[in-house]
Amino acid sequence: MINYISKSEMIAKFKKNYFGLVEFFVQAEPKVYVRNDLPPLVAKFVEAHELQHVKDGVNGGEFSAFIAGVKATPLGALQAVLMSLSPSRLKMYPALASGIGLSLSAILLIIFS
Ligand SMILES: [Zn+2]
Repeated sequence: MINYISKSEMIAKFKKNYFGLVEFFVQAEPKVYVRNDLPPLVAKFVEAHELQHVKDGVNGGEFSAFIAGVKATPLGALQAVLMSLSPSRLKMYPALASGIGLSLSAILLIIFS
């Protein structure tokens, strides 16, 4: 079950402007939150990403979740990465966002050049 919340609710609840997030509990099912203002493909990517986090459990990594999102929608993954290339989001995920962003930009350059 996914809880769709606004950007301001996301910031109020988790202090940061996440696209999506999983809240894990010791004695309850994890809760998945996804922003309700994302473009459709980005939402699809984020949903697949967060649901993979649920499958992987609290110690699961970002890589597995990222790949699940890419498999669900490669275009949504690309769009999410491009949307992440804003100064405020890069501060949240410096290595991840710039690393993935740069590699995807390189792929795009190869495809379209
Ligand atoms: Zn994640």
